[in-house]
Amino acid sequence: MSDLSRLDLLRFLERVQKQDLARTRRWIQEEQQRARAEAQRAAAPKAEPKTWRAYVPADARQTVELHRVECRIEHPELDTREITATEARKLREMGAEMSCQQCQASEAAP
Ligand SMILES: [Zn+2]
Repeated sequence: MSDLSRLDLLRFLERVQKQDLARTRRWIQEEQQRARAEAQRAAAPKAEPKTWRAYVPADARQTVELHRVECRIEHPELDTREITATEARKLREMGAEMSCQQCQASEAAP
């Protein structure tokens, strides 16, 4: 220890403090990136949930049936798709059937 002058010790301390400062600046950058990514996620529009189910007959002349997703009525013989309320509204406007006693789809018209 006696070989090290007071000046050597101060330079050593300076190096350590520079490394600490560089690390703190890295942490600040990482935190800023995290905050930006979080803000972007919060600003992104949420996908509309699929709250309706459409039963689509193979024969295009037959009527598409609309039910709420929680409805217990099933038509395994028909093509089934889960859709959003917006999509259900469009199908309804095109003539889809939505009078179901189980899920009362007509009362919950999208
Ligand atoms: Zn139903």
